[in-house]
Amino acid sequence: MITVTNLHKYFQTSHALKGINLQVKQGEIYGFIGQNGAGKTTTLNILAGLSRPTQGECLVAGIDVKKIKHPSELPIGYLPEAPKFYPWLTAFETLAYLGNSKKQKVGPTRIKELLGWVGLSEASHRRVGGFSRGMQQRLGIAAALLPEPKLLILDEPSSALDPEGRAEVLQLILALKEMGKTVIFSTHILSDVERICDTVGIIADGKMVLEKPLKALQKDTLVPIFDLTSLQPWPEQIKEKLLHLPGVKHVEIKGTIASIMFTDAKTASIRLMHFLSREGLAVSKFVQRQHTLEDIFLREVKIT
Ligand code: ATP
Repeated sequence: MITVTNLHKYFQTSHALKGINLQVKQGEIYGFIGQNGAGKTTTLNILAGLSRPTQGECLVAGIDVKKIKHPSELPIGYLPEAPKFYPWLTAFETLAYLGNSKKQKVGPTRIKELLGWVGLSEASHRRVGGFSRGMQQRLGIAAALLPEPKLLILDEPSSALDPEGRAEVLQLILALKEMGKTVIFSTHILSDVERICDTVGIIADGKMVLEKPLKALQKDTLVPIFDLTSLQPWPEQIKEKLLHLPGVKHVEIKGTIASIMFTDAKTASIRLMHFLSREGLAVSKFVQRQHTLEDIFLREVKIT
């Protein structure tokens, strides 16, 4: 549904995208993860036809985004990071306004159906200015569905919401998939991606550092992490020393907890216990767990 090859974007003062490759398959939910400033919005704006690539190929539903004259030529629905609506219009009037142009006519029945679908039937005649952020996001999703697109591009649809609002938006994204739509959405909330995505793409500093089906990622990373809780603060050189142990990939120290990530499970715990006894370090807890997406993310974007 989307194929991006070697995508670069230069702004006057920055090189925001440095050779992005990504592939979104038909019917899947693709989670596009990255920290602030990684390049998510820049990429999604290009995919939505709102910004021009400096270099590289972007095929969206078979259409080369460089060749379009207007974003409406792409068969997509787009939800910007912070959708803005006229506060004095009601939800119904908002969709009627957005859904009716020279090119498109959306009737009242469809508008009511969309409002019902996003759970805003009862609020349909209330002014949008009084809507919570969650309601505004759901109205934004309804607006993105107005052109009946096959593909939805959602920029941080859940990031600014409370847990309840986030859960509602994630449910809607799952429902979109059940309707046969393809969805790409950006976020920095990793648990959201773990809850609903088929494929995960991680972007850091304008480069894709990983793209994989979530299941494969979870399977690949069945290598262990050990969380060790020390009785005293860890000695200063502990991180460097642990990193020198064979098979240790990543070490994170947070207060008295040291999290040690191994590349393989074999004898990892024994190696770690030998290390602790050699160094004369006492621990109150020695816990083995599997990687979470957060661990993988931290490792791939090399945050220490
Ligand atoms: P956030 O989660 O904060 O929205 P993001 O991953 O969406 O972050 P982008 O907004 O795509 O990141 O920004 C990527 C980089 O490009 C940043 O360094 C940003 O400062 C830069 N950038 C984005 N838009 C412009 C612009 N119009 N002019 C100059 N630089 C820009």
